[in-house]
Amino acid sequence: MIYQRASSTAVAFSPTPYDRVIAERLHVPAREGRAVRVEAGRRFRVIDPDGGQVADTWAFVGDDPAEFHSAQHTRVHVNRLFPRPGEEFVTNARRPILLLEEDATPGIHDMLCAACDPERYRGLGVEGPHASCQENLRTALQAVGVDAPRFAPQPINLFMNTPAQPDATIAWLPAPTKAGDYVLLRAELDIVLVVSACPQDIIQINERNPGPIAIELL
Ligand SMILES: [Zn+2]
Repeated sequence: MIYQRASSTAVAFSPTPYDRVIAERLHVPAREGRAVRVEAGRRFRVIDPDGGQVADTWAFVGDDPAEFHSAQHTRVHVNRLFPRPGEEFVTNARRPILLLEEDATPGIHDMLCAACDPERYRGLGVEGPHASCQENLRTALQAVGVDAPRFAPQPINLFMNTPAQPDATIAWLPAPTKAGDYVLLRAELDIVLVVSACPQDIIQINERNPGPIAIELL
C-alpha cells in the first residue's frame, strides 16, 4: 500500500557533480557506497536488483550533517523496532526525516546492528583489507563534499534479516529479498542519502555473495 500525504509536493532535484550522469537511477556497485542529495518532498526507491543483499542506509540533514536519522529516536517515535509503511524515521533532534511509503519486500529489516567496519572483519578472522559499510559511508560522503562523522551512525539496515530470538540472541540470516524488491521512501527534509551495498561475505547475511543496490529517484 502506498501512503501519500495530501500536502506532498514534488521538488526539483538538483544534481551534484557526483551524480549528474545518473541522476535518476544511481547504481551502487557490490561492496561500495554512494551518496546523493535528495530534496524535501522527493521520493526514492532503494532496490535490491539481484535479491539477497543488505543495503546499509543513512540520511543526513543536508545543511547540518550533525543531525541525521537516528535509530534509537525512531524506535521511540514509532514504538516499534522498525517503522511500518506510513510511519517516519526521525532524526537525533526528533524531526521527521524519512517517510516509509511502501515496502515491496518480505518486510524484514534491521535497525539494531552497527554497520560493518574494519574491526568487525578483523574480529571475524579476516587478515588484510576488507571493504566495509563504515568506510563506504566515509568515501561516499566525501564524494559529495560532506565531512564524514568519525563513527558511522546506526544504519537503517534495509533487507537485513537479523531477528532477536526468544533467548535474546541475534540470528544472522540471509536477506530474504527477491530480485527487484524495494522500499519506497520520501525525504521529509533536504537530505544527503547514503547507501552501502554491504560487503559482508564472512557471515551469511548477503548469502556470502555481496551484490549491488540501486537507488531510483522518482
Ligand atoms: Zn556492511
